[in-house]
This record gives sequence, structure tokens and C-alpha cells, in this order.
Amino acid sequence: MTKATDPLRPQPRAGIMDIEAYVPGKGAAHGVAKVHKLSANENPLGPSPKAVEAAQEAAAGLERYPDGQATRLRQAIADTHGLNIANIQCFNGSDEVLGLLARIYLGPGDEAIYTEHGFLAYPIFILAAGATPVVAKEAGERVDVDAILASVTPRTKMVFLANPNNPTGTYIAFEEVRRLHAGLPKNVLLVLDAAYAEFVRRNDYEAGIELVASNENVVMTRTFSKVHGLGGARIGWSYAPAHIVDVLERVRDPFNVSSTAIAAGEAAMRDRAHVERSVQHIETWVPWLTEELTKLGLRVTPSVGNFILIHFPDDREHSAPEADGYLSERGYILRRVAGYGFPNALRMTVGTEEANRGVVAALTEFLKS
Ligand SMILES: *Cc1c(COP(=O)(O)O)cnc(C)c1O
Repeated sequence: MTKATDPLRPQPRAGIMDIEAYVPGKGAAHGVAKVHKLSANENPLGPSPKAVEAAQEAAAGLERYPDGQATRLRQAIADTHGLNIANIQCFNGSDEVLGLLARIYLGPGDEAIYTEHGFLAYPIFILAAGATPVVAKEAGERVDVDAILASVTPRTKMVFLANPNNPTGTYIAFEEVRRLHAGLPKNVLLVLDAAYAEFVRRNDYEAGIELVASNENVVMTRTFSKVHGLGGARIGWSYAPAHIVDVLERVRDPFNVSSTAIAAGEAAMRDRAHVERSVQHIETWVPWLTEELTKLGLRVTPSVGNFILIHFPDDREHSAPEADGYLSERGYILRRVAGYGFPNALRMTVGTEEANRGVVAALTEFLKS
């Protein structure tokens, strides 16, 4: 072992070695006839065929650099969501903009708040910026605005809020988000990560567009990885006030979104029928899965996302790790969420009808075993 201060090789700056690398959802299991990957909240219907076609066409011109402004893609987003294109920026996945915001607005000595069961990319970005992550407790697996506000100190510079949250699938009403914003000092940046916004059909939910438009300290981030089924293309976008747009333009990679991604994203955004089908699939299967699994005696956290959090019984033989092993052997790959504070739960992405029925059948057998 070399000491951390070994002068004979380059050393990462303070804080970097405190980062635990992000563990993605597992991929394919081996030796199983058919594998259903239900571990990364991908779209079981796949991307829009129009997006695939557009990416293929764009691939014929791959010798050219992409449009560094991703204008066609931003225009499609602006048209669809009724937004000013000047406030929209595109990134190599929303992870890129979340990480950039941390590195721009945080430094050593600063604190950034995220919630107890919040997305685990946040502490990685906060630590990578040299700042200190502060965890606000949740209440009943839901974000607790009072707990966030109670965690604010003079060092706080940023709050990351996933709404709906992953892996719980719960959300807070927009009135609560407004109350959170109203309670934050004006120099604290509120990042509203709305990766699952498209799936939420509730009157009291809003992704945050209005709050961004009327304030200087709110950014909303969105992704093409979930409802649009384009996780492999890596496209995310943000909606931000002009002064933040300006700063992001200075630091982002000039060609951060590839030409195939721009083409696929534009076509996906304009294919509203595919989005609607994808949302309807989730609206059908989340209640079905929740009901069937509840009948089996499992607790399921009520979800407005495209995934559910399944809690397992306390006995050892039927614990989440046991269930994970049992399901994996049968080709169903779910997500372990111990790192999110749920050692005895699994997160399941809604799959195809076949996969959903298969998981329920397998868990029925598992619980009898
Ligand atoms: C999936 C997800 C993202 C999206 O990440 P991309 O980099 O756009 O693929 C962001 N936030 C949360 C909470 C997510 O679950």
C-alpha cells in the first residue's frame, strides 16, 4: 500500500477517495434462457422506432462533429413543453448536468443537502466537488420538507430533490416544493430532478417549470433515459434561469451530445404517441403489481414512477437478498437497494407483461419455499 501522500505519483484532491463508486443495476444473468432486466428503470417498450430510425440516419454522417448547441433537440423540447429554447440545455445524460451544477456551485467547506433515500448519484457529485453531503431524514419513505429546511446551515449552497424520488417512487405535492423553495436562502440552488415526471398523473404534481421561470435559484433536470427509452443514447436536459445557463455554457463539454443522440432525442420527443403508450403501460402495471404483491403479503411502497419498491419479510429465508438470488436464477434481474437505506427491499422496474407476470409467479413460489 502506498500512502495517500506519496509524492511519487499524482494524488486526487481531498474528498475524492471518500467517494464510493456508483453501482449500476445488474446486467444480464448467465445460464438463464431469457433474461428480464428490471434493474435500471428502462422502458420495457423500448425507444420510439422513429428515434431508432433517426439515429441510424444520423450515423451515416458520423465523421462530422455534432451541432454543439443541439438546436434541433432543444427546439423539439421547447415545442413539446412550451418553453423558451434559450433556457434549455442538453447534456450527456442528466447525470452530466447534475454533476456540473455541483462542481460549479460547490467547493470545499460548502454543504449540499439530499434526502435519506435520495438518488445516490448526488453524494458522489457533492463529494467530487470537494463539498460535504448532508442527509435530511425522510418521513414514511417520503421527502420531508421540514427536515430539509432544518438541515440548512450558513454553509448550505445546494439542495438536490428527486421528485418523484428513486428508489421509493414517492413524490411530494408541488405546494410542498414551493414551501421548500420559500424556506431556502436565495443563494441556495434548488435542483429539481424530475427524471420520472412524465409518469406522474396527479393534479397536485408539477415538475418545476414555473418555479424555474420565476426564480433565480431553481433548476429542473429531465432525462431521455426513462419514459423515452433512450438510456443508451445518454441525453438529459435542464431548464434554468439565464444566469445559470450562462455558467453551464462556459463549463460543459462543447460537443457533449452526439449527433446520433440529438437525432434520436428529437424524434423521441416529437413521438407523443410512443410517450403516451409508455405511460399507459406503467399506469396499467404499477397498480397490478402493487396489488398482486400485496396479496402475497409483501409491502409495496405506493409508486408514481415506472418502478416499485418491494419490502420483504423479516425472516432470513425470505429476505430481499434471498429473493434477489431466487429471481436472478430465473432470469429476473431486480435492483438491490441496501445502499439507499433499504437492506430488505428490492426495486423492480415495470417490465413487459411477460416479465411482470413472471416476477409475481416466481415470488409466489419463493414465499412458499
Ligand atoms: C435515472 C435517473 C436519472 C437519469 O440519469 P441519466 O443520466 O439522464 O440517464 C436522474 N435522476 C434520477 C433520480 C434517476 O433515477
